[in-house]
Amino acid sequence: MQKLSCSHICSVLSADKDPMGQAIAQYYATGKAAKLRVFSSLFYEDEIPVATLFRTYKDMPLQEQEALRLCCGRVLDVGAGSGCHSLELINRGLEVVGIDISPLSVDVMCKRGINAKVVNFFDHLFVDRFDTILMAMNGIGIVGKIENLPQLFMRLKQLLLPGGQVLLDSSDISYIFKDDDGNVDIDAAQGYYGEVDYRMQYRNFKGDEFYWLYIDFDTLSLHARNHGFLCEKVVDGSHYDYLARLTMI
Ligand code: SAH
Repeated sequence: MQKLSCSHICSVLSADKDPMGQAIAQYYATGKAAKLRVFSSLFYEDEIPVATLFRTYKDMPLQEQEALRLCCGRVLDVGAGSGCHSLELINRGLEVVGIDISPLSVDVMCKRGINAKVVNFFDHLFVDRFDTILMAMNGIGIVGKIENLPQLFMRLKQLLLPGGQVLLDSSDISYIFKDDDGNVDIDAAQGYYGEVDYRMQYRNFKGDEFYWLYIDFDTLSLHARNHGFLCEKVVDGSHYDYLARLTMI
């Protein structure tokens, strides 16, 4: 499996290696999409219903609705996808910049009237300041592995205005490792259990393998504190998930 190096996490996607972007572009153009297939060593083949990437406020889970409610000032929507959160924030009168490594998705966002840019969050050449940094739909997943968290916190410090906040939702996926008796069977030697390997496919477009981090609230708080952030839980979701708010101490 491809190791996540800095050059990898600082890059953007080419259209032929961007199944999600292909799905978003097709759904936007035609109102229909084929299956967006998801593979991982952790579970059987799964699917992301493409329509959910275009969800509106009323179809969003509680933690996303709450995150949108808390957004204020200039907002950076990280890994904005089709722009579903950006659009809602624009409708509420906020100034939003949406960034994504998928040129196909950014093109859709621009067509939807969003100020969107093809930018990798970890790219230091992207210099700007925001009151709110939104990382929705487990957006912290972009760090891939716990070992990359220092780069995340460094970038957040560079991009936050004084008094700014980060709103992110994630999940504690330890429930996946529970046996029939409810005991959690996790081999700590394999690394943090929330580092999930993924590959996606849309029609014939196959993406590269990547890691996507799911992080439990206590682990997030610990790392956040070590990097000068206060981490508060705003709300619990319905399925081991939560919304957190990070502010600089
Ligand atoms: N926030 C959207 C999309 C979530 S899917 C929603 O809730 O519907 C995750 C998105 O993050 C994808 O569009 C992917 O292209 C983008 N992404 C992945 N790594 C990124 C990075 N390092 N910088 C910016 N965007 C990234």
